[in-house]
Amino acid sequence: MRRSIRYGDERIAFTIRFMPRLGLASQRRISISVLPDGAVVVDAPQASEPQEIVAAVHRRARWIWQQLAAHKERMRHVLPREYISGESCFYLGRRHALKVKVSSDAAAEVKLLRGKLEVTTSVSDPDTVRRLLDAWYRKRAQEIFARRLPEVADSLRWLKEMPSFRLLNMRTQWGSCSPSGILCLNPQLVKAPRPCIDYVIGHELCHLKVHNHSPAYYRLLAALMPDWEARKRELDGMAEVLLNR
Ligand SMILES: [Zn+2]
Repeated sequence: MRRSIRYGDERIAFTIRFMPRLGLASQRRISISVLPDGAVVVDAPQASEPQEIVAAVHRRARWIWQQLAAHKERMRHVLPREYISGESCFYLGRRHALKVKVSSDAAAEVKLLRGKLEVTTSVSDPDTVRRLLDAWYRKRAQEIFARRLPEVADSLRWLKEMPSFRLLNMRTQWGSCSPSGILCLNPQLVKAPRPCIDYVIGHELCHLKVHNHSPAYYRLLAALMPDWEARKRELDGMAEVLLNR
């Protein structure tokens, strides 16, 4: 059964599923969920009155609205990128609007200018813009990671020598650490805020001493970066957006 309620200027549509009476305590109350595809489903006991269900949805309307907004936001960002003017580009945690400037006689270049990431190109097809942007991010990543690595490593007394790193595009990972002690860092990480970049560097550095994720490893990480969990949470929240390219 489909119903909807008003919430501010919007309507929240939902589907009611009546549950057969099984006598389970958990099935005697109305429960509301927002599914991954954005559908709002209300599971109600068979005997519920319609106004009782609507009242329950009203009580949780704010929460439902927040879930729907978060869902919309996620979907907006995971749409395939088009590499056209106005699209969002992230750099060090800041959102910049992409500006594609087509000029047949100018050299191809990327500039961060007054809050805009400006790509000058003689051809504006998405592949070309993407390639130019990728190269720009890679250069920035090389520079910034080379600066942050010694900074983060500075307080690690057990570190004998400064490890080197290389850039490696990975689809689902920000970094890794090889048994031979070379750090791999995803150049896409340069899109994240600096504390998150430091977190990934710190995480991989600690693997130089402890190669697994044992309690000993986390003690080491916490000693280096007491707030690593908050940084990780922030980065996890942006992962879909930052890794989409
Ligand atoms: Zn790890």
